[in-house]
Amino acid sequence: MLEEGSRVLSQAKAVQDKARSIGDATRDLILRFRSHCFRPMSGASDQEIPTPSYVWVGPCRGATCEVCDRQIVNGETEFVIVARGREMRLDRDCFQRRVKALL
Ligand SMILES: [Zn+2]
Repeated sequence: MLEEGSRVLSQAKAVQDKARSIGDATRDLILRFRSHCFRPMSGASDQEIPTPSYVWVGPCRGATCEVCDRQIVNGETEFVIVARGREMRLDRDCFQRRVKALL
């Protein structure tokens, strides 16, 4: 009985690891190829409709970079990454480091 439980837990962990890996790969693809290459799809499925993911680039109206905590001043370019319903603001340096790490 304990061996069976251990085997099931091991399989569940492997599935979680694979799901996490797929999620990471998806995020990397979105950042690499930008959101304009990925159109949200919907249709006759009863599964959850994915939230759109994109990167918005534009002038900042005053925000803090969520990677380095540096203040992004008004008018400076900011990068807003939206994925899985979460929004993350980065300054240029942190965004470029993030993109280079993915390439
Ligand atoms: Zn930063």
